[in-house]
Amino acid sequence: MKKLLSKRSKQLYREPLEFVVHIKPLPNELLSSWLTRTAFAHYMKTTTFLNLYIMNRRNALVRKDLDFYNDEHFFGILYKKSKWAKEDILALSIRSEEGFLYDCNDCLVVPHQIRKPTYKRSNYGMLYCPKCLAEDKIPYWRKKWRYSYYTACPKHKIFLTDRCWGCGERIRIVKMLLAESVVYCSKCGKDLRLTSSSKVPDKYQDGLDAIKWFDAALERGYFEIGKQKVWSVLFFHIHNRLQNLMDRKEDLVLEGFDMIDEYKQLCSKLENYDSKKASPTYKAFFLNAMVYYIFQDFPNNFIKFIKKNKLIHRDFTHGLKEVPFWYEKMLEKYIPKQNKMGREITKEEVLGAIKYLRSLNKKVTQEEVAKLVGCHFTINKGFKKIYQSLNFALHN
Ligand SMILES: [Zn+2]
Ligand SMILES: [Zn+2]
Repeated sequence: MKKLLSKRSKQLYREPLEFVVHIKPLPNELLSSWLTRTAFAHYMKTTTFLNLYIMNRRNALVRKDLDFYNDEHFFGILYKKSKWAKEDILALSIRSEEGFLYDCNDCLVVPHQIRKPTYKRSNYGMLYCPKCLAEDKIPYWRKKWRYSYYTACPKHKIFLTDRCWGCGERIRIVKMLLAESVVYCSKCGKDLRLTSSSKVPDKYQDGLDAIKWFDAALERGYFEIGKQKVWSVLFFHIHNRLQNLMDRKEDLVLEGFDMIDEYKQLCSKLENYDSKKASPTYKAFFLNAMVYYIFQDFPNNFIKFIKKNKLIHRDFTHGLKEVPFWYEKMLEKYIPKQNKMGREITKEEVLGAIKYLRSLNKKVTQEEVAKLVGCHFTINKGFKKIYQSLNFALHN
């Protein structure tokens, strides 16, 4: 076995020192938070600590996404040196959510259920609730602050924020300067507990309930859809597809959903001009709430959503590599697949659909017309033939 280890990993196992102080991991704490707290307890910056105690040469670990890092040697050292149980250490890593929040089979890329820590176009990925930090007896950073669905704090009813109030720098826990706790900006040293963040308006209660709903499901391992239990990872698997499907902007019809106007206003803002960087957090908040909403009062909201938006089976599965069985079964019940060969389509129906789209000033495409007629846009040969001849006739 020894022969199999590379020179480098042998070095990793060699000299490192034993931990002197054992800092207890806190509930839902992030690995980088715990490591930084442990480093500070040893009167060291995290980089120095990792060099000395974990033999992290050339700061390789700091450059990596430590919280999504998956390396047996690295965890081996942590198990050996700290007095805590293996499962307590592993629970600090976002990897421990594999099989519950996401499914990736040793993937190297962070899955969409987790925000990447440097995703600059929308936000910096590492969000936080300044009030949670301020209330903590021992301040620490939560794993859930990196989950895509977690955009606001249900306890403090504020949106999470992603930067320092003083200098605007993103949060880099392992880069923080040595202090009594892990709450000071790595760049300017301002106390991050003092960051102010927008309040979630009372009208947005559904959005907070949505976050609680996802949290509870992740905690117990399953969602309840109607009377059926759905393994959490199999729901999170389709979460993104549903969000994309619901992100219909101006066209979305979602009766009874309280935040519909705000969602549409935000969409047009994002389209028309460069708005504030935090807007994507709000958008994620709305989309999340919408997915939650269609599964409430099941199946009524779900059926209404399908009908009012004239959706077909394929809209729900498009782009999914794997369609979970529960999802397929649910779709089959409420939105059966079209008979692809299809019934016979008449010229009048197709013409009617084209005229209808034109009257709304909408683009006439083979796909849109087929949706209205209720058949598949390329497989139904009769439809294809009629559409093409009509479209040709109308344009000439
Ligand atoms: Zn909070
Ligand atoms: Zn700062």
